[in-house]
Amino acid sequence: MYVFGVDIGGTGVKSGIVDEQGKIVVKSSIKTDRSRDYKAIIKDIGAQLIALAEEAKIPMSELTGVGIGCPGAIDSARGIVDYSCNLCWKNANVASELRKYVDLPVKISNDANVAALGETKFGAGKAYSDTVFVTLGTGVGGGVIIENKLFEGYRSKGAELGHMVIVKGGEPCACGRRGCMEAYASATALIRDTKRAMEKDKTSAMWDFVGGSLDAVDGRTSFECAKKGDKAAMEVVENYVKYLGEGVCNFINIFRPQAVILGGGVCAQGEYLLKPLREFVKANTYGGDTVPETEITVATLGNDAGLIGAASLMLGGGVETLL
Ligand SMILES: [Zn+2]
Repeated sequence: MYVFGVDIGGTGVKSGIVDEQGKIVVKSSIKTDRSRDYKAIIKDIGAQLIALAEEAKIPMSELTGVGIGCPGAIDSARGIVDYSCNLCWKNANVASELRKYVDLPVKISNDANVAALGETKFGAGKAYSDTVFVTLGTGVGGGVIIENKLFEGYRSKGAELGHMVIVKGGEPCACGRRGCMEAYASATALIRDTKRAMEKDKTSAMWDFVGGSLDAVDGRTSFECAKKGDKAAMEVVENYVKYLGEGVCNFINIFRPQAVILGGGVCAQGEYLLKPLREFVKANTYGGDTVPETEITVATLGNDAGLIGAASLMLGGGVETLL
C-alpha cells in the first residue's frame, strides 16, 4: 500500500509517494507560483501526482489517498484552507479541487500538525503514542498527538502551542497578545535577545563572532559564544532555556505526553540545549518523581518532515475528511 504526500509551501510544492513504513519511494518539487488562483496550483499538483505514480510504476489502484500539509488556518474535516497568509489563499476548497484530477480520498492539515504526526509515526517519536511536537523557528508552532491521533481542536483551530502566555504583560507577540511563548522561545526572539545583550555589553565575544555587525546575528550566535565562556552569551542561552522550559513544562502538565519533540534550527545545538532544558523541566513539572518522566528529544525527519508528515495523514492518525 502506498499514499501520496503533498507539502505545499509558499515557494514550492514537494510531493512524493510514501509506503506504509514512511519511506519515500519517489518525490518531486514544483514551483508554487502563488500569483495564480489556488485552483491552477491544485491542477499542477494533480499532474505532479500522476507523473510520480507513472515514474514509480505504481498503479493508482495501489495508492489509497493523498495527505496534504499546508501553512495557514485549515478546516481538516471539510478539506478547506480557510486562510493562508503564505499562499494568499482564502476559503480554498483544496480537497474537492484535487479530487477532480486524482480520484482518491484526500486529507489536509496544518504544516505543523502534519510534522507532528510524521515525527510521531516515523521519526523521533515512533516508539510513542502520545507526543507534543514543538518547532522553534520564525515563530513557535507545533502539534499534539494523543493515542496516535492528531488533536486539532474544534474546526482544527486548536493546538496553537506558541501562543500560550508564559510572561504576563511580556514581549509583544505577532498574535496581538503579550508574553506568548513564541515571543520568547522562537528563533526570532532568541536573535532579539542576543542583539539586546550585545548592545548592553560592548565587550562581549559575540561582537567578534558576527564581525561587528548586529545584522549578522542569528540563532547560533549566543550558543556558539556561550560554549566559549562568554558571559553575556551564557546569560542569553540560560534565559532562552528557561523560557523554552516554562513552555515545555506547561505542555507536559496539560498533556503528559511520553515525549516532547523539538524541531527547528535551534535544535542543532543538541545536548547543549537539551541537557539544561531536561534539568529545568524535571525540576519544574507537576508531580516530581511520582509521575512518568517525559522524554525531551529532537526531530529526526529533517527536510522530508513535511512530505512524510503529510503522507502520514493517510496512514492513520489524521482527522477524517467529511467529503
Ligand atoms: Zn501570541
